Amino acid sequence: MEYAIPVTMFKLAKNEKEAVGFAEQIGFPVVLKIVSPDIIHKSDAGGVKVDLKNVAEVRSAYGKILENAKKYNAKAQIVGVLVQEMAPQSTEVIVGAIKDPQFGQTLMFGLGGIFVELLKDVAFRVAPITHEDAEEMIRGVKAYPLLKGYRNTPAADIDAIVSVLLSTSKLVMDYPEIKELDLNPVMAYEKGAKTVDARMILE
Ligand code: ADP
Ligand code: MG
Repeated sequence: MEYAIPVTMFKLAKNEKEAVGFAEQIGFPVVLKIVSPDIIHKSDAGGVKVDLKNVAEVRSAYGKILENAKKYNAKAQIVGVLVQEMAPQSTEVIVGAIKDPQFGQTLMFGLGGIFVELLKDVAFRVAPITHEDAEEMIRGVKAYPLLKGYRNTPAADIDAIVSVLLSTSKLVMDYPEIKELDLNPVMAYEKGAKTVDARMILE
């Protein structure tokens, strides 16, 4: 893979039967997600169902997701339903990029959930970034101690997060037409890191 951003295994289903087949290929548990250009925040629309353990749960989630999507926006264009490998729970981090009108491609790092959304605990660096910059960004957020391990949360693989930041930096430098890129969340493990949701806006 050119940019070496590890992601979960996924397939796009166009109907319930396909979703079940893909779930069996990928292996349970799986995650189902709505794919629609008109639904940006999928969970807000009831469009994400995680930890589906068997065929019955996949069938029921498939129907629910389409029903929820229709309720959320009756006019939404539905591309399909993504069937994804379920990534083990872990500390969730966010790697992003925005094209600043003045500084150009700028990278963002923070921890998932309340840390970025509520507390705005984020670090920024103008791209391209070095290995050192990436480490500084990670150490620069207030929530950093959580990545060092805390009570029953094991320490996260900082090098793996550095590598996602560097790949993202390269990606947005190579493609200046990227206006916004969001890897949210990236699951940070004791060993490795995996992106389970990505969103990109082009100019
Ligand atoms: P959105 O950000 O559009 O609401 P996400 O794809 O980020 O949708 O899913 C919402 C949340 O569900 C994620 O923040 C994560 O906690 C969980 N999640 C999503 N996909 C997976 C997956 N493949 N494995 C484990 N958890 C997942
Ligand atoms: Mg997300």
